[in-house]
Amino acid sequence: MKTYGYGHQTIDQSDIDAVIETLQSDYLTCGPAVKAFERAVCDYTDAKYCVAVSNATAGLHIAALAAGLGKGDEGITTPITFLSSANCICFTGATPVFADIDPETANINPAEIEKRITEKTKVLIPVHFAGQSCDMEAISKIAKKRNLIVIEDAAHAIGSDYKNTKVGSCTYSDMTVFSFHPVKTITTGEGGAVTTNSKELYDKLCAFRAHGMHKDGDMVNTWEYEMRELGYNYRMTDFQAALGISQLKKLDAFKARRRAIVAYYNEHLGLPHLIERDFSNACFHLYPVLIDNRRDFYFKAREAGLNLQVHYIPVHTQPYYAQYGYKKGDYPKAENYYAHCISLPLYPALTDEDLKEIVRRIKEIL
Ligand SMILES: *Cc1c(COP(=O)(O)O)cnc(C)c1O
Repeated sequence: MKTYGYGHQTIDQSDIDAVIETLQSDYLTCGPAVKAFERAVCDYTDAKYCVAVSNATAGLHIAALAAGLGKGDEGITTPITFLSSANCICFTGATPVFADIDPETANINPAEIEKRITEKTKVLIPVHFAGQSCDMEAISKIAKKRNLIVIEDAAHAIGSDYKNTKVGSCTYSDMTVFSFHPVKTITTGEGGAVTTNSKELYDKLCAFRAHGMHKDGDMVNTWEYEMRELGYNYRMTDFQAALGISQLKKLDAFKARRRAIVAYYNEHLGLPHLIERDFSNACFHLYPVLIDNRRDFYFKAREAGLNLQVHYIPVHTQPYYAQYGYKKGDYPKAENYYAHCISLPLYPALTDEDLKEIVRRIKEIL
């Protein structure tokens, strides 16, 4: 029996050739492929600057640092996300705060953000869940009123549009972070990128990516540099960047296939699913449905060769977050979503026959 996971990378011969070519070149890291990948991400998203990093968690960390987040500050994100969106706030010593979701989209609800803002709030980290953009105009309005920095966690959302902009253009934010982990829409193995339109933020991101090192125009010798803040080694390698360039060329085709699969499920399954807003043209990363007896369904699906996944356990219910005073019951919409959600297979390699077969198996166990 053919088995299906909830996600899978799509790698073809042109991807393999691009990596091999770079492995045979002079630069394995800090070379021209990283620069070219950053330029390609800028061209695709319409952002001015891009900083490629070792993974999106690193990208979120340096974005939070570049925003000036630190001890005594608060950052607001959603409970329905992967750990990194909130952990990056904790990395800086700041306090993570959550705002509940809109159950129709599973995205952070701007009205809930308003309720959680205090004197200490410094950053907002909306997450474009499943690939659908958050209501960025509303979020940007809240941020502008109070001088907050907006970091979009777009780990799910490369290729997605918000109104007439690409996610990553930073039209309604200060920085956007992408992930290129294999389950995400395009991959570099591990990898991520931060986009921004601000030269000041770009310079900070570059410094935090590489040990806090600065090299100014008057430092003419190769060995001269100054470390002005505590940075990290969050660089991407050139062979990963070469894979990224090759993958990015296929992104629009991946998006079309992902949207077609979502449309097929919507039509043929008849299960409650997320609603796509008018402002969105999502490059869907996940297809979650809501099931009454989710636990039972999960195990029956596994027996039927469908290895599904749950996205996500609400972050505020994790044991580590108890130290901030969070407990079950704090964010009822997120918790109710979690109790029912399960993500079905969604990746470009699924054929029409695969989809028919997946729908058949699901209907049988429902
Ligand atoms: C995958 C993911 C991340 C982390 O990405 P990595 O590249 O694995 O560090 C962050 N946020 C969200 C919403 C994600 O899904």
